[in-house]
Amino acid sequence: MCAWCEGKKNVYTRIADLESHVKKVNREVTISKDQFTRANGFYFAKYPEDYAKVVENINPYDAKAAYEARKAMRSWSDTFSDKQAMGDQ
Ligand SMILES: [Zn+2]
Repeated sequence: MCAWCEGKKNVYTRIADLESHVKKVNREVTISKDQFTRANGFYFAKYPEDYAKVVENINPYDAKAAYEARKAMRSWSDTFSDKQAMGDQ
């Protein structure tokens, strides 16, 4: 999911699609080049548990890219007034 479209849930099935979306739409975002790897996609996943089942070698929790992804996702989820709604769709 895109962590930079505030108040929107833009879902991409492939990490490459998310990457090209961010580069096109969220141009203000500075992203390190290891941000949109399959290993790091886990931290953008709508269903991280399912993601972990299909992708081996998830980026370690303390990796820099993982940290940045979690931070982006956190501030993104803060843009929703009803946080409970996040798991609904
Ligand atoms: Zn976006």
